[in-house]
Amino acid sequence: MLKLVNISAHYGAVPVLRRVTLHVDEGERVCLLGANGAGKSTLLKVLSGMHRPSAGEVLFRGTAIQGKSPEEIVRKGLAQVPEARQLFPNLTVRENLELGGYIHGRRKLRETMDEMMELFPVLRDRQTQKAGTLSGGEQQMLSIARALMTRPKLLVLDEPSLGLAPLIVEEIYATLEELNRQGTTILLVEQNALGALDVCHRGYVMETGRIVLSGTARELAEHDEVQRAYLGRD
Ligand code: ATP
Repeated sequence: MLKLVNISAHYGAVPVLRRVTLHVDEGERVCLLGANGAGKSTLLKVLSGMHRPSAGEVLFRGTAIQGKSPEEIVRKGLAQVPEARQLFPNLTVRENLELGGYIHGRRKLRETMDEMMELFPVLRDRQTQKAGTLSGGEQQMLSIARALMTRPKLLVLDEPSLGLAPLIVEEIYATLEELNRQGTTILLVEQNALGALDVCHRGYVMETGRIVLSGTARELAEHDEVQRAYLGRD
């Protein structure tokens, strides 16, 4: 579904990604772990078309997408749930979802909206409420639902657990598992290694712009380096 081959990226002359190679197969739930500043957000900007890599190739469903516009990438079926949710706080839940579905005609927009209300009853109950007045967990659900309005094949999430209580995080991860069972492939970018490894099949660990480890979720969870750096165990 997604394949990055030797992706390098810079801000000016400063290298941020160094020959990153990874892949996500159809139907998988894959996580990308890394501490602050490892380059995860930059990698996501490359995926969404917001930052042009200086070298390498991004293949999505068989075609190269590096250099394509964010809109073209969304239309091909790759949607992102951005860090910190980035909702329109003064618009209602329904209006935020409508904006998410802007690529559809009116009929498909209505159908997709109905599906989202079914999938997220909490949003149905709060359709007319302003997004900025929702709780943190509800805002995260809205941000996920807004990305799903594009009907993506691959959903990429940037730290959806950030700042949320453990129970809410569990609920969000359960939603991701359900979406995955219904056919959406998932790439989850997290600092929260414990939660991400619990919910994903496979993962990669990134440090200073490089992939330094990869393996099944179990292999990574048992790896000394991951235990020390991300799970706080000696
Ligand atoms: P976080 O989890 O804190 O968002 P991250 O792993 O997503 O971290 P990035 O945001 O990709 O990391 O940042 C990687 C490096 O690139 C950091 O050293 C950061 O300071 C630098 N960087 C990020 N954005 C820019 C920018 N617009 N201009 C210059 N340097 C940047």
